[in-house]
Amino acid sequence: MIVYDLQCGHEHRFEGWFASADDFTTQQRRGLVSCPTCGMQEVHRVPSVTRFNSGAAQPPETSPAGAGELLAGKDPIAIAQILYSRMIDELLQKSEDVGKSFPEEARRIHYREAPGRSIRGQASNEEHAELIEEGIAVLRLPVPPPDLMH
Ligand SMILES: [Zn+2]
Repeated sequence: MIVYDLQCGHEHRFEGWFASADDFTTQQRRGLVSCPTCGMQEVHRVPSVTRFNSGAAQPPETSPAGAGELLAGKDPIAIAQILYSRMIDELLQKSEDVGKSFPEEARRIHYREAPGRSIRGQASNEEHAELIEEGIAVLRLPVPPPDLMH
Protein backbone atom coordinates (compact mmCIF):
# COMPACT_ATOMS: atom_id res chain seq x y z
CA MET A 1 0.00 0.00 0.00
CA ILE A 2 1.18 3.49 -0.79
CA VAL A 3 -0.31 6.85 0.03
CA TYR A 4 -0.17 9.63 -2.52
CA ASP A 5 -0.88 13.27 -1.88
CA LEU A 6 -3.14 14.29 -4.73
CA GLN A 7 -4.47 17.57 -6.00
CA CYS A 8 -7.38 18.29 -8.35
CA GLY A 9 -7.65 21.05 -10.97
CA HIS A 10 -9.28 23.23 -8.32
CA GLU A 11 -6.25 22.83 -6.06
CA HIS A 12 -8.03 20.70 -3.47
CA ARG A 13 -5.47 18.51 -1.73
CA PHE A 14 -6.37 15.02 -0.61
CA GLU A 15 -4.85 11.60 0.01
CA GLY A 16 -5.27 8.58 -2.18
CA TRP A 17 -4.41 5.04 -1.08
CA PHE A 18 -3.26 2.59 -3.71
CA ALA A 19 -1.96 -0.95 -3.86
CA SER A 20 0.99 0.20 -5.99
CA ALA A 21 2.18 2.96 -8.30
CA ASP A 22 0.74 0.97 -11.22
CA ASP A 23 -2.58 0.74 -9.44
CA PHE A 24 -2.67 4.54 -9.17
CA THR A 25 -1.84 4.97 -12.86
CA THR A 26 -4.52 2.47 -13.88
CA GLN A 27 -7.18 4.00 -11.66
CA GLN A 28 -6.28 7.50 -12.81
CA ARG A 29 -6.49 6.50 -16.49
CA ARG A 30 -9.89 4.91 -15.97
CA GLY A 31 -11.19 8.01 -14.22
CA LEU A 32 -11.58 6.18 -10.91
CA VAL A 33 -9.62 8.76 -8.97
CA SER A 34 -11.65 11.84 -8.21
CA CYS A 35 -11.45 14.76 -5.83
CA PRO A 36 -13.52 14.10 -2.67
CA THR A 37 -14.36 17.79 -2.44
CA CYS A 38 -15.57 18.64 -5.94
CA GLY A 39 -15.58 15.27 -7.73
CA MET A 40 -13.16 16.41 -10.42
CA GLN A 41 -11.34 13.56 -12.13
CA GLU A 42 -8.48 15.72 -13.27
CA VAL A 43 -6.13 14.71 -10.50
CA HIS A 44 -2.36 14.72 -10.27
CA ARG A 45 0.22 13.77 -7.70
CA VAL A 46 1.95 16.37 -5.58
CA PRO A 47 5.28 15.67 -3.87
CA SER A 48 4.83 14.11 -0.46
CA VAL A 49 6.67 12.25 2.21
CA THR A 50 5.72 8.63 2.41
CA ARG A 51 4.76 8.02 5.98
CA PHE A 52 3.88 4.41 5.67
CA ASN A 53 5.18 1.98 8.29
CA SER A 54 7.36 4.77 9.61
CA GLY A 55 6.73 3.76 13.20
CA ALA A 56 6.69 7.45 14.06
CA ALA A 57 3.70 9.33 15.40
CA GLN A 58 1.14 10.00 12.70
CA PRO A 59 0.34 13.61 11.87
CA PRO A 60 -3.15 14.59 13.01
CA GLU A 61 -4.52 15.17 9.50
CA THR A 62 -4.93 11.40 9.05
CA SER A 63 -7.93 11.56 11.39
CA PRO A 64 -11.01 9.71 10.13
CA ALA A 65 -12.71 12.99 9.19
CA GLY A 66 -13.14 12.92 5.43
CA ALA A 67 -12.24 9.25 5.27
CA GLY A 68 -15.79 8.41 4.16
CA GLU A 69 -15.41 10.68 1.16
CA LEU A 70 -12.11 9.13 0.23
CA LEU A 71 -13.50 5.62 0.55
CA ALA A 72 -16.54 6.33 -1.60
CA GLY A 73 -16.23 5.05 -5.13
CA LYS A 74 -13.39 2.65 -4.41
CA ASP A 75 -13.85 -1.06 -4.90
CA PRO A 76 -14.35 -3.25 -1.81
CA ILE A 77 -10.84 -4.71 -1.98
CA ALA A 78 -9.30 -1.23 -1.96
CA ILE A 79 -11.47 -0.30 1.01
CA ALA A 80 -10.43 -3.46 2.84
CA GLN A 81 -6.77 -2.61 2.18
CA ILE A 82 -7.27 0.89 3.54
CA LEU A 83 -8.97 -0.35 6.69
CA TYR A 84 -6.30 -3.01 7.15
CA SER A 85 -3.51 -0.46 6.80
CA ARG A 86 -5.16 1.84 9.32
CA MET A 87 -5.59 -1.06 11.71
CA ILE A 88 -1.88 -1.86 11.47
CA ASP A 89 -1.00 1.79 12.07
CA GLU A 90 -3.22 1.78 15.12
CA LEU A 91 -1.70 -1.45 16.42
CA LEU A 92 1.81 -0.10 15.94
CA GLN A 93 0.98 3.07 17.81
CA LYS A 94 -0.87 1.50 20.71
CA SER A 95 1.26 -1.55 21.37
CA GLU A 96 4.47 -1.84 23.30
CA ASP A 97 7.50 -2.94 21.28
CA VAL A 98 9.16 -5.81 23.12
CA GLY A 99 11.35 -6.81 20.19
CA LYS A 100 12.89 -10.25 20.27
CA SER A 101 11.39 -11.11 23.65
CA PHE A 102 7.95 -11.18 22.05
CA PRO A 103 7.30 -14.96 22.44
CA GLU A 104 8.38 -14.91 26.09
CA GLU A 105 6.38 -11.78 26.87
CA ALA A 106 3.28 -13.06 25.02
CA ARG A 107 3.42 -16.20 27.19
CA ARG A 108 3.82 -14.22 30.39
CA ILE A 109 0.78 -12.11 29.51
CA HIS A 110 -1.22 -15.19 28.50
CA TYR A 111 -0.45 -16.94 31.79
CA ARG A 112 -1.05 -13.69 33.71
CA GLU A 113 2.55 -13.39 34.91
CA ALA A 114 2.74 -9.94 33.30
CA PRO A 115 0.20 -7.12 33.04
CA GLY A 116 -2.24 -7.60 30.15
CA ARG A 117 -1.48 -5.22 27.29
CA SER A 118 -0.90 -5.08 23.57
CA ILE A 119 2.63 -5.94 22.57
CA ARG A 120 4.46 -6.35 19.29
CA GLY A 121 7.81 -7.74 18.38
CA GLN A 122 9.51 -10.41 16.39
CA ALA A 123 9.08 -14.17 16.50
CA SER A 124 10.51 -16.89 14.31
CA ASN A 125 8.19 -19.21 12.39
CA GLU A 126 8.73 -21.91 15.02
CA GLU A 127 8.06 -19.55 17.92
CA HIS A 128 4.96 -18.28 16.17
CA ALA A 129 3.67 -21.83 15.64
CA GLU A 130 4.35 -22.71 19.28
CA LEU A 131 2.37 -19.70 20.50
CA ILE A 132 -0.58 -20.66 18.29
CA GLU A 133 -0.39 -24.25 19.57
CA GLU A 134 -0.53 -23.01 23.15
CA GLY A 135 -3.70 -21.12 22.28
CA ILE A 136 -2.07 -17.72 22.68
CA ALA A 137 -3.72 -15.09 20.53
CA VAL A 138 -1.04 -13.68 18.27
CA LEU A 139 -1.46 -11.97 14.95
CA ARG A 140 1.26 -12.02 12.34
CA LEU A 141 1.44 -8.82 10.34
CA PRO A 142 3.28 -8.20 7.08
CA VAL A 143 5.08 -5.24 8.61
CA PRO A 144 8.87 -5.17 8.49
CA PRO A 145 10.69 -4.84 11.81
CA PRO A 146 12.00 -1.33 12.48
CA ASP A 147 15.61 -2.22 11.68
CA LEU A 148 14.61 -2.94 8.06
CA MET A 149 12.88 0.38 7.57
CA HIS A 150 15.91 2.53 6.92
ZN1 LIG B 1 -11.44 19.43 -6.09
